[in-house]
Amino acid sequence: MVHGRELEHGVPDVLMSQSATRRQDQLSLFESDAALMARIRALPKVDLHRHLTGSLSADMAVKLGAAHNIELPSYIASELHQVLFSHSGIETHADYFSPWQILNKLYKTPASTQDLVWQVIEAASADNVAYMELRLGPRGFLGDADYSFEEFTQCVAQVVSRANATLTTQTRCVLGIPRHVFIKVPETTRKKMLAKIIYTIREYPECFVGVDLNGDELAAPSSAFSSFFHLARDAGLGITVHAGEIGSDAADVAYAVEALSATRIGHGLAAALDTRTLTMLGERKATMELCPTSNVLLGVVDSVSGMPIRRLQQFGVPYAICTDNPARCQTSLSEELFKVAKAFSCTFDDICQMVRLSVQVSFADDAAKSRLRQLLPN
Ligand SMILES: [Zn+2]
Repeated sequence: MVHGRELEHGVPDVLMSQSATRRQDQLSLFESDAALMARIRALPKVDLHRHLTGSLSADMAVKLGAAHNIELPSYIASELHQVLFSHSGIETHADYFSPWQILNKLYKTPASTQDLVWQVIEAASADNVAYMELRLGPRGFLGDADYSFEEFTQCVAQVVSRANATLTTQTRCVLGIPRHVFIKVPETTRKKMLAKIIYTIREYPECFVGVDLNGDELAAPSSAFSSFFHLARDAGLGITVHAGEIGSDAADVAYAVEALSATRIGHGLAAALDTRTLTMLGERKATMELCPTSNVLLGVVDSVSGMPIRRLQQFGVPYAICTDNPARCQTSLSEELFKVAKAFSCTFDDICQMVRLSVQVSFADDAAKSRLRQLLPN
């Protein structure tokens, strides 16, 4: 029997290194869960789909509520956690989003909003998230706050700038339109409002890098927002659209890519049901932002292993693993990646490859992408 050490004797360095890498890959297939999780936690990661409000934990809410005199059902974090984030009895989209009624109170003032954004970025930083795109709505725009949308965007841009200069996580923002809210506005007024939103966020190009359409897919078609996406595209903003999550029509995913110029899709699971859509997504390299725990919680899939990852791979459709609403889902990006690794027998190198792809398809500028690549293992 010839031992590995003897086989390597006299082999050129480059081959030795390939051999060592190959052996390391094989070993990593069998590494313990603890070792795998330790490596994933230490890896600088990228989250392209994370909602601001869905990132607010009970602990953060208690701190913010106490500091800014905001009324909450409890100021004991464990009690508030039970009230807000129990995973039992979630049957509808409305059940899933029920904590938002209370969490929205935390945006009481520009100061509380800045504290809130800071805490969410700090939590991402603690999980070694090197870059994230934080999604937030046009708060203040529809009279839903005691401040204007302009004040809201300004205060968010200020705190993000401060965090980018101070914390290890680089944050950019994606402005998401809640479709079920804006569909109630008459079409002519809606178009003017959406245009104003684009012009406002363009004042802060270092902070706001993209736009999104979210909310209840079944309440309004994406086509009602086409003018918004055309303007965003012309303004050079990145475009992502929530589609094919709870709606089961692959055509919605295709429409977002083909008619709205989306280069990324929030969830997009319905695409897996249709070969033509998968082929088109693979040809265009449109990325699916997959959020496993969130999809399980909403009953879109039975388990993480039910995510259509193999089917996407088969058609060359890129995907990025994301958190969606980490506090609501009681998860972190490290945990999402770990769950995917376990469910699909991924090596640590596979996980690194996923993170590299997330960098590539992010809405960050080239300089930021280059800095992120330097943080990742070769
Ligand atoms: Zn989402």
